[in-house]
Amino acid sequence: MLRKVNDINILPVTSVKGIGGETALALNDMGIHSVMDLFEHFPYRYEDYRLKDLAEVAHDERVTVEGVVHSLPSLTYFGRKKSKLTIRILVGRYLITGVFFNQPYLKNKFAINQEITVTGKWDKHRQTITISEHKAGTEKRTNEFEPVYTVKGDLTVKGFRRYLAAAFKEFGNDITEILPDYMLKEYKLMNRRDALRSLHFPLSDQDLKHSRRRFVYEEFLLFQLKMQAIRKVQREQSMGSTQKYDLQKLKGFIDCLPFPLTHAQKRVVNEILADMKSPYRMNRLLQGDVGSGKTVVSAIALFAAHSAGYQGALMVPTEILAEQHSASLMEMLEPHGVTTALLTSSVKGKKRREILERLANGEIHILIGTHALIQEEVNFQKLGLVITDEQHRFGVEQRRILREKGESPDVLFMTATPIPRTLAITAFGEMDVSIIDEMPAGRKAIETYWTKHDTLDRVLGFMEKELRQGRQAYVICPLIEESEKLDLQNALDVHAALTQYFQNRFHVGLMHGKLHSSEKDLVMREFSENNIQVLVSTTVVEVGVNVPNATLMVIYDAERFGLSQLHQLRGRVGRGSDQSYCILIADPKNEVGKERMKIMSETNDGFVLSEKDLELRGPGDFFGKKQSGVPEFKMADMVHDYRALEVARNDAASLVNSEAFWKEDQFKYLRESLVKAGVLSGEKLD
Ligand code: ADP
Ligand code: MG
Repeated sequence: MLRKVNDINILPVTSVKGIGGETALALNDMGIHSVMDLFEHFPYRYEDYRLKDLAEVAHDERVTVEGVVHSLPSLTYFGRKKSKLTIRILVGRYLITGVFFNQPYLKNKFAINQEITVTGKWDKHRQTITISEHKAGTEKRTNEFEPVYTVKGDLTVKGFRRYLAAAFKEFGNDITEILPDYMLKEYKLMNRRDALRSLHFPLSDQDLKHSRRRFVYEEFLLFQLKMQAIRKVQREQSMGSTQKYDLQKLKGFIDCLPFPLTHAQKRVVNEILADMKSPYRMNRLLQGDVGSGKTVVSAIALFAAHSAGYQGALMVPTEILAEQHSASLMEMLEPHGVTTALLTSSVKGKKRREILERLANGEIHILIGTHALIQEEVNFQKLGLVITDEQHRFGVEQRRILREKGESPDVLFMTATPIPRTLAITAFGEMDVSIIDEMPAGRKAIETYWTKHDTLDRVLGFMEKELRQGRQAYVICPLIEESEKLDLQNALDVHAALTQYFQNRFHVGLMHGKLHSSEKDLVMREFSENNIQVLVSTTVVEVGVNVPNATLMVIYDAERFGLSQLHQLRGRVGRGSDQSYCILIADPKNEVGKERMKIMSETNDGFVLSEKDLELRGPGDFFGKKQSGVPEFKMADMVHDYRALEVARNDAASLVNSEAFWKEDQFKYLRESLVKAGVLSGEKLD
């Protein structure tokens, strides 16, 4: 008899025996609508019913053992309704105690020498199991593992197991494979149906590992396919410009720089130039540690755009940064006949009108500013290249908006936060990545010291010594105001204390996120002009500010910050020719905290720190809370499963660039996943 194949992707959960209207509503509430959704609601952990030798079980671990009843139970009451039933059980050569709480009715259920299997928490010191489940006899359980699901409302874990059993019985055979056969063979992956069955009804530890492996790969592959498809569509379908830059002039420009480029700078310049020359649109992320020389690279790219007859723009997050960049770009570019201009919201009136006019008629070649720059009434004559600095604060969506602005110029994103590779190919998977992994020669390494709070006097003494030599210092605090809950130093208090301490000798400024942006700019300016010698601040100074005369960075409660953030903060000093110092004041409570402080004082390599940071804090926290752009995976773990991630990424890239992928039947389901993800419209597939 021919059996009709059901499309369980759209078949509602009510088709499963035992799921009625009310249950279905509760399931819908959890995002489970179709039978497939039910299958794809993965357990978040398993009860382990494997029998173990008690000698190998850790204190407080859950365990299942079998034995014989050695003495009849004794019952004690405490409180009105609370009771404790104690029973002695012989498990192999151990005589242990089993305890049931609040189940007095079990008292007459046991007989001496009766066989019994119990599950519960093992107290190694008291040789006692607090029993949560038991059954008579010792026959083997059918399942050594039972899945535990997150449930909502009136739904129960047991109910879930029942629905899944019913669903598998009826629709298990309708689960289709979505990966092509050759992939399953090559990576020895379980097919989709068996893998789903094993996840919900695992037979063994091995079995579970095997099915988990399949879904880790599947999840990464689907995600990477999406990113790679976006990348391909953006490259090929958004009309980029072919910028025929003048190589001779460009070489002349590079030769005039006051220093030779590092190897890494040369490499990324070539990668960027290749993108600019190609008819595709550049969508590239340039990563380089603080001080690795990204600004020069951006100047070269802007010069190339100009020599090809295009205008360029550089966008940065704050006014003060815009001014700094504008000054250094002007110095490099103007001697070569390239006109630059600065546009921020403080440029107003006649001056603004004049800039806009000269921009529109092409007299201004390079525009530098905050991100109002490409959003307002700003019209370029012929914009070919947009560079944004410190953009990891934007999520995928903002990046898309930026790319879709105006005349589709090439786009280069720069960031000084070294991003671990696994995160880069996930959060920025749709982009090409260039990395400057080398520092200019002769840079003095910042010396970093970790001290505890009780040595504050010595820290202040050291600060005074630096200030007397005409240097400046930053003091960073985690909070703005006094917090009752957390015993932390805060910027206001520290500011008051230091003002008092340095009275009549040095000026102490205060900077925090609650200041208006014009106030922030004012404080920053005072500091960069050395009217303020000590700047007490929250982390708002983190982003790219350059005050080369500042040689000391003191960070209060350093254990509160992530390693990458500490590294960014530390990068505010060491920008001049003088030896710089970073002092971390911290009393970490645990080993991980101590390890972090040690790592900070031992290495200046941002990539090493970022990998460590990811390992210690996990992907979700890496960029901070806002707009991290890091996707959540159900099964896969970016840190733990990084090898699978690499493989999936490479597979996805070669798939979308192969002809077979867009034609052959074996890739049908993978193509459909792209339509579902909204990357492709359905029609394009046929
Ligand atoms: P980033 O923006 O990556 O933090 P910058 O571009 O501001 O770094 O460069 C930091 C400093 O190093 C600047 O003073 C710059 O002039 C200098 N610099 C850049 N590249 C080189 C190089 N190849 N050799 C020597 N000094 C360099
Ligand atoms: Mg920079």
